[in-house]
Amino acid sequence: MKAAILSVGTELLFGEILNTNTKYLSQQLNELGIDVMYHYTVGDNPKRLAETINDALNKCDLILTTGGLGPTQDDMTKEIVTEMLHDELILNESILKALEEQFKRRNWKMTDNNRKQAYFPSRAVIFENNCGTAPGFALEEGIKTIVCMPGPPREMQPMFVNQVRPFLDKNRDGFLAFQMLRLFGIGESSLETVLLDLIDEQTDPTLATYAKQGEVTLRIASKRKSKEEAENAVKEMAERVKEKVGQYIYSMDGEELYEVVGKTLLQKHITLSCAESCTGGLFAETITKIPGISEVFDRGIVTYSNRAKMDELDVSESTLNTFGAVSEQTAVEMAEGLQKVTGSELCISVTGIAGPGGAVEGKPVGLIYICVRYGEKTVCKELRTGNQDRLWNRNYTLLHMLFLIFKILNENN
Ligand code: AMP
Ligand code: MG
Repeated sequence: MKAAILSVGTELLFGEILNTNTKYLSQQLNELGIDVMYHYTVGDNPKRLAETINDALNKCDLILTTGGLGPTQDDMTKEIVTEMLHDELILNESILKALEEQFKRRNWKMTDNNRKQAYFPSRAVIFENNCGTAPGFALEEGIKTIVCMPGPPREMQPMFVNQVRPFLDKNRDGFLAFQMLRLFGIGESSLETVLLDLIDEQTDPTLATYAKQGEVTLRIASKRKSKEEAENAVKEMAERVKEKVGQYIYSMDGEELYEVVGKTLLQKHITLSCAESCTGGLFAETITKIPGISEVFDRGIVTYSNRAKMDELDVSESTLNTFGAVSEQTAVEMAEGLQKVTGSELCISVTGIAGPGGAVEGKPVGLIYICVRYGEKTVCKELRTGNQDRLWNRNYTLLHMLFLIFKILNENN
């Protein structure tokens, strides 16, 4: 079944609020195996709302709307939907009674426009609103269905879960399963090239890639007659992908890189410390987002100046003078010094030029050295990002630091 999500509200177009309803409903429909084909957002304007619904009806069988169900003049979703699906609004006595009781209980005065909320299309299936005043409803005509829900997420979400989902469940035409694989160190286009035969081979499972700063998420999805069938198809495809690009995969179920690293450290009980220059504490900040990490994370030191590197980590002055603060030698001495100070099993250091200034001859912006001391082993990595953007370089460096640790931890299984 093809579906569209339609958000109604001028405040959305003004950018005053973030459209979280669309994200929420897209995820929910995906889980139900309903294919979301379009996202629409339209202001509180009857003509444009009607045009948009018309367009969505031409392309999809199911439309989910949120917003515009309130009592005021600019709330008109119900009126337009009723017109578009050739029905009429009639008073629903039991909803009116419930509304009157709700107002009495709260000691509010009921106005005429509140009564408007008790009118529904004659053929509608009504969804109660236990968290607000505007009930939702579903209206069908032939194979087309429009479901209307209120805008506030705290009203819409329970209505969806408790009433709309069971309603849609009855009409479902398949079960969807999906799995998110996460990779680092392979570009989106290279990944696609490597997986081309798998991508071309079949229409189900489908493979889709999403790239973000050096990371790629690969979504494998399958829609079959039963949930089990769909899950098996996805699992099988995930294994085939792993055979081809396993060395880049850090998660088979959508986890963030830092979470995977933190979890592995905790599982293996490996203690960790970091000494950061160009990332300014970003690594420590990220790793400490993990609850319970204090069991293994000892400390993070930000050694920004040459003096700090000498004072805190015992980097030698001659190394700094001869090779510079941004050099493999300095990164190695930082990690070694950190290991002496902390005794942590895994010590990571980083030094680099985040930009936009700071480049010197032979050392461009984006030149970064990362060093890991793990027991007696030293691994050093040089990065040349080629990027001038300071924040981008810092984040990208962070990912490389985490991935280097991930690699080292998994080599030593
Ligand atoms: P309405 O039902 O149109 O009166 O919407 C009432 C309120 O719900 C708005 O002022 C927003 O705070 C919230 N809201 C409406 N649409 C959305 C949306 N798509 N995502 C998140 N919040 C929304
Ligand atoms: Mg509104």
